[in-house]
Amino acid sequence: MTLILQELDRLPPAVLTAKPEQLHKILGAPTLLHLEGEKPQPLFISILLHGNEPTGFYALQRLLKHYQHKPLPRSLSIFFGNTLAAEAKLRRLDNQPDYNRVWPGTEQADCEEIRLMQYIFDKMKAKNLFASIDIHNNTGLNPHYACINKLDNSFLQLAALFGRLIVYFTHPKGVQSLSFAELCPAVTLECGRPDQDHGIDHAFDYLNSCLHLSELSQRALPHRDIAVYHTVAQVKIADDITFGFDENSHQLILDKDLERLNFTEIKPGTRFGRVKFLQKLPVLAIDESGKDVSSRFFELNQNELLTRCATMPSMLTLDERVIRQDCLCYLMEQIAL
Ligand SMILES: [Zn+2]
Repeated sequence: MTLILQELDRLPPAVLTAKPEQLHKILGAPTLLHLEGEKPQPLFISILLHGNEPTGFYALQRLLKHYQHKPLPRSLSIFFGNTLAAEAKLRRLDNQPDYNRVWPGTEQADCEEIRLMQYIFDKMKAKNLFASIDIHNNTGLNPHYACINKLDNSFLQLAALFGRLIVYFTHPKGVQSLSFAELCPAVTLECGRPDQDHGIDHAFDYLNSCLHLSELSQRALPHRDIAVYHTVAQVKIADDITFGFDENSHQLILDKDLERLNFTEIKPGTRFGRVKFLQKLPVLAIDESGKDVSSRFFELNQNELLTRCATMPSMLTLDERVIRQDCLCYLMEQIAL
């Protein structure tokens, strides 16, 4: 099956009332939609790069309804991402790559999704973008926050419009906002769990504010207005390790209250779980340059998996599929700006 991008300059009306799982039937393919507004430099919005993260779609749907009978303050280009996975209510299908790891700069092997994202990138580059917003949910107990991939003031301004909490990262490669940061101020929004109405409200208000912005200031933000954290490692569970949250024959039994550690400063010696019949670390912490830093952050002590230094985790989740497909968590430290 060949992956084809559909490009439209008019909104199919059925999108205004659709559920994310119906989009694939309506659109038929991943779709790039261009809508003209009063200011010509477009705002780029991508949604459903992960099929089971509907908040961005619902916020966008509300935005499109809001401007159904009046002009958009600024042009919009919208990418409806993994509609097939949305139909199945999954992050991605088993035979698909992660749609947020295949943008220009990716380290993954060439595939048709990479070529599709490259096409979108080139197309949007030619349109002289105003800003780029990619909207996500996560499964753990996390506050709302915006991620940026450059520490420029215009990026910080765009992120601070969403909230005080900002995460800066440069790895993994192939992420949409990391790629678009080469073109314009870009953010990834993390809007909490998929089923929360206040996530949709927050994302809608944010998109509407961005539509009305005439420029993104280059001024520095007051320090009290933002807290910026830098991702120092991504933590995965080693491929050959079985894990779970329940007591059984798993090699790694993770603690059930793990997600409470998200966005809290944790001390050395904080327990992540217990191991059985294991001599080596069951987790793999990889820093931004791709180096294995597992033993800097974790140790095994009396069959317990413990942290070795003060750090702040994010994206810890109890969803075993997400842990296997994506990662266990990220580790962060605060940046003094
Ligand atoms: Zn996501």
